[in-house]
Amino acid sequence: MTTHLRFDVQHNPQARGAAERERMLASPGFGQVFTDHMVSIDYTEGEGWHDARLQPYGPLVLDPATAVFHYAQELFEGLKAYRQSNGSIVAFRPYANAARFNQSAARMAMPALPEETFVESLELLVQTDREWVPTAEGHSLYLRPFMIATQTALGVNHPSQKYKFLVIASPAASYFTGGLKPVSVWLSTEYTRAAPGGTGFAKCGGNYAAAFVAQRQAVEEGCDQVVWLDAFEHRWVEEMGGMNLFFVFGDRLVTPSLTGTLLPGITRDSILSLAGELGYTVEEGKISIEDWQAGCESGELTEVFACGTAAVVTPVGSVKGTDRSWTVGDGTPGPVTMRIREELVGIQYGARPDTHHWVHKI
Ligand code: PMP
Repeated sequence: MTTHLRFDVQHNPQARGAAERERMLASPGFGQVFTDHMVSIDYTEGEGWHDARLQPYGPLVLDPATAVFHYAQELFEGLKAYRQSNGSIVAFRPYANAARFNQSAARMAMPALPEETFVESLELLVQTDREWVPTAEGHSLYLRPFMIATQTALGVNHPSQKYKFLVIASPAASYFTGGLKPVSVWLSTEYTRAAPGGTGFAKCGGNYAAAFVAQRQAVEEGCDQVVWLDAFEHRWVEEMGGMNLFFVFGDRLVTPSLTGTLLPGITRDSILSLAGELGYTVEEGKISIEDWQAGCESGELTEVFACGTAAVVTPVGSVKGTDRSWTVGDGTPGPVTMRIREELVGIQYGARPDTHHWVHKI
């Protein structure tokens, strides 16, 4: 049993004033600006979690032999706090992120953090930096909990015996600079993101490090984002760089099943529930790139959208691969995509009833 951690609170004497904060909140971009504080909790094998604190946001000083720099024993989460229309601040499904954090931790041979502590850390940081939760429409405070291996020793025979859990927060506008424009996607056949038994389902930094080369190739090919395919046939659709995918066949929605090689998105899970309630048929299954192209050409596949915390729900407008390219629908955002987006955003910002108790008041 873990004893309850008491947070030591140290306020930032250099916290920015209202004028500077307002200036930074005017156009925060994504992941560029950080709030005045952060949470830090240490872990030592045999002792458990200790030294929980809220402290001024700032650099970490780490020995060059710290394990994370060498073996990438690291994982992270991403979720948002929203300012609702009635003024209250909420996080969206933070316990789902806490659970996924611990699933990632198990795969990376890292310690689990009690879900209550994970959520308490978010609450403490958001309460302290509540003035940084944007009021502008569609903006939010992006929360980034993460854990790194901090033992200072080289050697690959066992996992680190020390870890640090941190939470930082960053006010965010829209993820894609183009706003709600359909994105173009590149089918990556040269590179693979994940294979069975690997780390595809875990939110570990190494998955993203290995993905940059394919994302760069997507951009070189004139596309916005990479779509990952299965490791063996390069044929079955898995997910995008930071989002899951939904395929809309009229009133039937299909999303790739969670096979262990893709991230179990919390937005994906929320949409599976919401779409069913809106009267659509929802299915988790297999979609090949041939199904995708043929469906678009026959008109049976009417819309494709990507979903994730950062990008919410974003239409996919066109697809390109080494030997093929096609458009989805007429290349503009479709009605099903827009309806699902509106429903989800409505719950997050308080315009729709939260029948699932997904929003967590802070
Ligand atoms: N896939 C990947 C690879 C991601 O990084 C993300 C973002 N966390 C997602 C899917 C979407 O997950 P979520 O809806 O929980 O943000």
